[in-house]
Amino acid sequence: MKDKTSEYSNNFIYNIIKEDLKKNKFLSLRTRFPPEPNGYLHIGHAKSICLNFELANLYNGYCNLRFDDTNPRKENIKYINSIKNDIKWLGYKWNKKIFYSSEYFSKLYHYAQELIKKKLAYVDQLTKDQIREYRGTLINSGKNSPYRNRDIEENLELFKKMKQGYFNEGEMCLRAKIDMSSPYIIMRDPVLYRIMYIKHHQTKNQWCIYPMYDFAHCISDSIEGITHSFCTLEFQDNKCLYNWILKNTSVSHYPKQYEFSRLNLKHSILSKRKIKILIEKNIIDSWDDPRIQTISGLRRKGYTPSSIRNFCKKIGVTKQNNLIEFSMLEYCIRSELDTKSIRTMAVLDPIKLYLYNIDDNYKEIFTVPNHPKKPELGTHKVIFTNTIYIEREDFKEKYEKNYKRLKIGAEIRLRYAYIIKAEKIEKDIYGNITQIICSCDLTTLGKKPTNRKNPAVIHWISIQNSYASEFRLYEKLFNIDNPEQEKNFLSFVNPKSIIVKHGFIEKQMNEKIQKEIHDIKSQNKNLFFQFERVGYFCIDLVDSKKNKLIFNRTVSLRDTWNKKNKNN
Ligand code: ATP
Ligand code: MG
Repeated sequence: MKDKTSEYSNNFIYNIIKEDLKKNKFLSLRTRFPPEPNGYLHIGHAKSICLNFELANLYNGYCNLRFDDTNPRKENIKYINSIKNDIKWLGYKWNKKIFYSSEYFSKLYHYAQELIKKKLAYVDQLTKDQIREYRGTLINSGKNSPYRNRDIEENLELFKKMKQGYFNEGEMCLRAKIDMSSPYIIMRDPVLYRIMYIKHHQTKNQWCIYPMYDFAHCISDSIEGITHSFCTLEFQDNKCLYNWILKNTSVSHYPKQYEFSRLNLKHSILSKRKIKILIEKNIIDSWDDPRIQTISGLRRKGYTPSSIRNFCKKIGVTKQNNLIEFSMLEYCIRSELDTKSIRTMAVLDPIKLYLYNIDDNYKEIFTVPNHPKKPELGTHKVIFTNTIYIEREDFKEKYEKNYKRLKIGAEIRLRYAYIIKAEKIEKDIYGNITQIICSCDLTTLGKKPTNRKNPAVIHWISIQNSYASEFRLYEKLFNIDNPEQEKNFLSFVNPKSIIVKHGFIEKQMNEKIQKEIHDIKSQNKNLFFQFERVGYFCIDLVDSKKNKLIFNRTVSLRDTWNKKNKNN
């Protein structure tokens, strides 16, 4: 069996687990992925998903999917469904059923009562602003709330009344009684419960008090028998509260929290709150807009589950915060698509070309490989006639030094076909080129021209065999490295993050896609193409219609972005 463990050499958590196992600290690994159902998953979540699920798989343990649903004001069942769908699509299976923190609301209430009985929690009446003010700062210690020393009975009674709906939102809350001068601000009597009159998607109207994340999280981990609770570095300080709650309640199992650095990706926004702003301001269309790095956006753009998993393995798991190059993500999909995508020709920005020395009813069919190195991927037929489309940028009317493509008097080879020579152009009354008139050398099929230079090759499509399609080309959404760090991140949006082209694919390609589109849609899959010389594309399964296919560019053929920016 292949030693999978070598793939984890850049994962410090893996090394900790190995040591723990040697010392028999636990029998089997139990992890969890705990998303808040308040948005769609993004590539940062994928890092955490891969870590939790892969490690559990590696050690024959299991990973729970637990919705951390303690704030119904921001949650929605549509987010639950999309999160489930994305995890499945990424190729992971959660343990048994799906868990919800809300399942434990009764137990959590009981543990809160326990803290009150131990004089370790009290019902506070300070307002939200007062609580903040009393909390102090990193330099100044906080001060005690005047309600801190209520007796146990009064606290129990008030907490019960909070639960029964006697008070308004914000009027009362339950706080842990720890230390208002702790160097860890999180330990300065953190709020454990707040009142919220809102229907919960799971518990409906059963509760009007909801536990805070810090209180619910550690207890949920404990109830589920989690051995390793992984979270991102911002929760480092919360660890003392995590351990304090477990120590002071009667839970019987003590999970351990480990922190790792969150994924930050260049030119990207990953915060759900900020993605929501992008949608509200119509900068992007939706959560699955291919310009953002949500799992659904990446899927729609043509990323595969394995390319995302591979990316997560490559970046590793460390404690250092860093900013990952976008090109690394692109490398992972490009190298995969290179091996599996079907090569075909498409013209995105067409200009007409007429071969005057070929008959109008001439038709030749070429059989061409679907992949240059993989004969097992088969072949397809390309139809050649005397009127074709080529890419507008493959012809230059004015002389330009070093321009190697078509210009008047120069030769070019049509991919898989003949060498042609541009003789003249025709224009409309506005001066736009309507067609390029060329001669075709019918002796040059598959042969080097005699006594002449071997010309460059361009792609083309026979007009008689063309099918109109839309092509969407995506650029980075932000033109600075780290938009996440900018308060006014919206002012760094790239105005040209999407470029729409109206061009053509081959008719038979359209027919093939139409036959398969229903199945690939229902299986959450896609079809992948390399449009020769243009890039890797997939079908936009959201906006494509029966009579009009739309293609998304997944990634360019080469890493042009880094080159472009180095030259600037
Ligand atoms: P966001 O800040 O994007 O809104 P979040 O941390 O609030 O995300 P949760 O739903 O709470 O989102 O996250 C679920 C899990 O995913 C958590 O364990 C969290 O640590 C992890 N996670 C979220 N963002 C990242 C990231 N950028 N890199 C690695 N892990 C992440
Ligand atoms: Mg969160």
